[in-house]
Amino acid sequence: MRSTMMQVPLNLCHFLERAGRLFAGVEIVSRLPDKSLHRSNYGEFYRRSRLLAEALEGAGLRKGDRVATLMWNHYAHFETYFGVIASGGVMHTLNLRLAPEDIGYIANHAQDRVIIVDDVLLPLFEQFKAQTRIERVIVVPLTGKPVPEGYLNYEDFLATATGDWDYPEMDENDPVAMCYTSGTTGRPKGVVYSHRSQVLHSLVQCLPDAVDMSGKDVMLPVVPMFHANAWGIPYAAAMIGCKLVFPGPYLHPDDLLPLFESEKVTVSCGVPTIWLGMAQVIARDRERWRCLAGMRLTVGGAAVPESLIRAFDGFGIEIIQGWGMTETSPIATIAKTTQLQPDITEDERFATMASQGYPLPLVDLRIVGDAGEQPWDGKSVGEIQVHGPWITGSYHDLPHSEDSFTADGWLRTGDVAAVQPLGFVKITDRTKDLIKSGGEWISSVDLENAIMGHPAVAESAVIAVAHPKWSERPLAVVVPKSGASVSAEELRAFLEGRFARWAIPDAFVFVDAIPRTSTGKFLKSRLRDQFRDWSWEPAA
Ligand code: AMP
Repeated sequence: MRSTMMQVPLNLCHFLERAGRLFAGVEIVSRLPDKSLHRSNYGEFYRRSRLLAEALEGAGLRKGDRVATLMWNHYAHFETYFGVIASGGVMHTLNLRLAPEDIGYIANHAQDRVIIVDDVLLPLFEQFKAQTRIERVIVVPLTGKPVPEGYLNYEDFLATATGDWDYPEMDENDPVAMCYTSGTTGRPKGVVYSHRSQVLHSLVQCLPDAVDMSGKDVMLPVVPMFHANAWGIPYAAAMIGCKLVFPGPYLHPDDLLPLFESEKVTVSCGVPTIWLGMAQVIARDRERWRCLAGMRLTVGGAAVPESLIRAFDGFGIEIIQGWGMTETSPIATIAKTTQLQPDITEDERFATMASQGYPLPLVDLRIVGDAGEQPWDGKSVGEIQVHGPWITGSYHDLPHSEDSFTADGWLRTGDVAAVQPLGFVKITDRTKDLIKSGGEWISSVDLENAIMGHPAVAESAVIAVAHPKWSERPLAVVVPKSGASVSAEELRAFLEGRFARWAIPDAFVFVDAIPRTSTGKFLKSRLRDQFRDWSWEPAA
């Protein structure tokens, strides 16, 4: 017997059509570089995304060609999320916080042919364009100033399209977007998403027991649209048609809070650093911000401190922690209490919310230690491995690596956790040698190699140490060469120019020797224990 159901490929362009037909009048608000508000709606989003698709096709974009974006969060970036895909191209978001040389490497590795860039970010683009094979530069005139000679104005480019256009043939497994994530040894690795992966991710993301987003919500994504598909918000938003409020380049609490209030935002999302700063501002004038009670914040990218969840609970704002990776589209688990915890105490409720949560439907999760797969007893720890339809099974144009994928095809996440009997994951450590500061990765190995390049340094190990504002910051442990001496200031100056300023360690600690494992590697777990209670200078 066969099913009688239609064989319909999952396709993100269905969300675009649906948004145009059902939600045309729903508002899309964007903060521009001059801080004014640009007001648009899903009807315009639909029309302009399709114009972009037609214009790209007319400009010779072939199926599967990569179109990069270098943009803040605003209406035009939202249009590219769908316009590029509708043309059959692959949307490649570039992380503007990386060092220009790294962005250039990524754009070149992905073979980006076209870039769509905010006019305010052109100076950054100029720093890496020579490294790339980009043929066409389309500039979004956010400031209204004339676009420099040699570049195309985004509005003029849209005007080359007629509106009389239809989608190319698409398969649900066709690539739609790509995103690079930091590699331990420096070189970033590309993840390529498909229609199928992002449609399924959107459907599950909106479930009440997941992020719980509906068309009646007003969503302000603080998470940059160049981070892991903006956590899936653009696709999910087009699917449900919720009002969108884009913050542009302004992510300070003093800019976000009034926008939350004036646009009646009900749900927002971002890394803990954003909300740590905001909690302080709200706490200073609780009466003023009482209007925000009832909001929900999806927080992830780094562990969310329980104290933060409690602070926002006190303001009447719910924090929903999610865990995931660029490799997992990104959401894989979500921390909400379940029907199996009917009588939990207040403390148990907060402890649950401070865990990384339970796996979403369609995500399989296991923890694997030295002795194999570990039981879900809340005590046994191992590496988190995941498997599912929105989890990558390889990296773009890189050889298959056993460090990243198991022989039976699961993703090795590099996060170490215990899982409670009810399925709640609690991350305890990380095997990947990376530091996550304010949502951005820093490679400890790259820093170590650079520091060890200093003529007065014999050895150096860089570790992540918890930080009250940035989640983590790098601390460098340094052994000077015998008879040589070097200061923290000299090392800092030595690293400047080679790394983005925010990636340079805040502290350099000088020691006689670095502890080693039996095989001679740096024993970083011992260093992490040793510096666990490190107290950062307030300025760090
Ligand atoms: P990215 O690919 O940049 O999104 O980073 C993914 C990594 O961020 C994960 O492998 C974790 O190490 C970390 N991460 C993400 N969410 C959480 C969370 N809720 N708690 C702890 N670590 C997290």
